Amino acid sequence: MASKGTVLMIEDEENIRDFIAASLRAQGYKPVGAKTAKEGMALAASLCPETILLDLGLPDMDGGEVIRNVRSWSQIPIIIISARGQEKEKVRALDLGADDYITKPFGIPELMARIRAAMRHGTIAAQTGACADVFCVGELRLDLGKRLLQIGKEEVHLTQVEYKIVAFLARNAGRVVTYDAIISHVWGPYMDDNNRILRVNMANIRRKIEKNPAEPRYIFTEIGVGYRMAQEEEPPGPAA
Ligand code: CA
Repeated sequence: MASKGTVLMIEDEENIRDFIAASLRAQGYKPVGAKTAKEGMALAASLCPETILLDLGLPDMDGGEVIRNVRSWSQIPIIIISARGQEKEKVRALDLGADDYITKPFGIPELMARIRAAMRHGTIAAQTGACADVFCVGELRLDLGKRLLQIGKEEVHLTQVEYKIVAFLARNAGRVVTYDAIISHVWGPYMDDNNRILRVNMANIRRKIEKNPAEPRYIFTEIGVGYRMAQEEEPPGPAA
């Protein structure tokens, strides 16, 4: 079977590394492990993996330094592996340029979905330098060129700010986007603590696009971190 790509795991706990590596191999990826931040940065540079899984708690260096280092030369998708209760660290890692995170303990299907989303994003960014002009998921269709949002055949009227939020999330579909990243994208970097205004806008957006705003289908809340726009999964390939 042709490899689906190299995944570099920077994680000091051997049992977690082995467990992830076995799962990746079973899914057709090529796993490579690093025990320390230094080793991880060296392997990232020499292998140019398709995705990096990064544990934030490493023995030699803060995981944030690894993100900064890799982002200084590459847009390789980085998925953070974090422990519960590390919300602040996760948010910081995302703001430093990580693409997504997964919280221990996690299931393998969840990890694989994150890796697929990250790789798809990496490929789109590398191939076109921009995202597609039309974003679709479920009944939702967003034409970024025409600034037109539809649910089914119905056009949805958004305010400027609501549109900016939805478009930004759509361009990052499948990935968690932090509150700060949305706020600085929509209102600029100098707006202090706009979480309340963002929440109000999100409530309005959900009322317009979700059948049941309490159980969103399109935009999910990542508590304490940010929001995630749903992404259409690729149809399953032929059975392996
Ligand atoms: Ca660790």
